[in-house]
Amino acid sequence: MMVKAIQLQICGLVSQRWSWKPRTVSSLSSFSSIPYPNPYSKLLPITTVARWVRFVPFHASSSSLPSAGNVRNIKFCQWCGGSTKHDIPEGEERLRAICTVCGKIAYQNPKMVVGCLIEHDNKVLLCKRSIQPSHGLWTLPAGYLEIGESAVEGAIRETREEANADVEVISPFAQLDIPLIGQSYMIFLAKLKKHHFSPGPESSACQLFPLDDIPFNSLSFSSMVVTLSLYVEDIKAGKLKFHYGTINKRPGTSPSDIRAYTLDHHMHS
Ligand SMILES: [Zn+2]
Repeated sequence: MMVKAIQLQICGLVSQRWSWKPRTVSSLSSFSSIPYPNPYSKLLPITTVARWVRFVPFHASSSSLPSAGNVRNIKFCQWCGGSTKHDIPEGEERLRAICTVCGKIAYQNPKMVVGCLIEHDNKVLLCKRSIQPSHGLWTLPAGYLEIGESAVEGAIRETREEANADVEVISPFAQLDIPLIGQSYMIFLAKLKKHHFSPGPESSACQLFPLDDIPFNSLSFSSMVVTLSLYVEDIKAGKLKFHYGTINKRPGTSPSDIRAYTLDHHMHS
């Protein structure tokens, strides 16, 4: 319920700012999957925002409290090293990790993942992952945005790191939120500045794929399946669009079930 409420808020905000046409893509849901565990698990979705708080008495059982991410795993304060308690700060609704020494709260917020969909001679560039998770599966070059860089800069950097390719970004192509794991993908269309690419440290291969040969059964993450499906669909329709959507896990399904996810609130330019 909480997740749904958040998604509706996002949808409403977007709809007010841009007059996109709401659209459903039922065909995508059949092979959408969410990377699990977190595909970039070396980086947890934790921000460094802090504030001092007064405490609200702890009334509810811990299992019934709405939390934000893996808050229970935060045992110590990242600022002073003091031990944390888990409680709902006054004026808030979510369970937080609160330092018992300095009183700061460790807020957890979604991470932005940025990447490039590189077009070249009617083909797209994919990288084969040489690291876990999804070792051996294909992905667009993408990774976490760093502090101090823009989304475009991050996408270019990730492409350089994973494919040793210098690219020019053409336009944004898709923003895909994955509320369950606290990620928001921003994928840009890009082109090679030079016809050169090779596997970076996290890739075992880089290859240009004609659209009909994209290895949809060997892609790494649901975000890649959705992005590439939308791209192929747009190309076949003769017009590239900008897409927004939310990737959700179907209730009661296994995290490893690649057919267990849907693309909701799909809007496009
Ligand atoms: Zn502290």
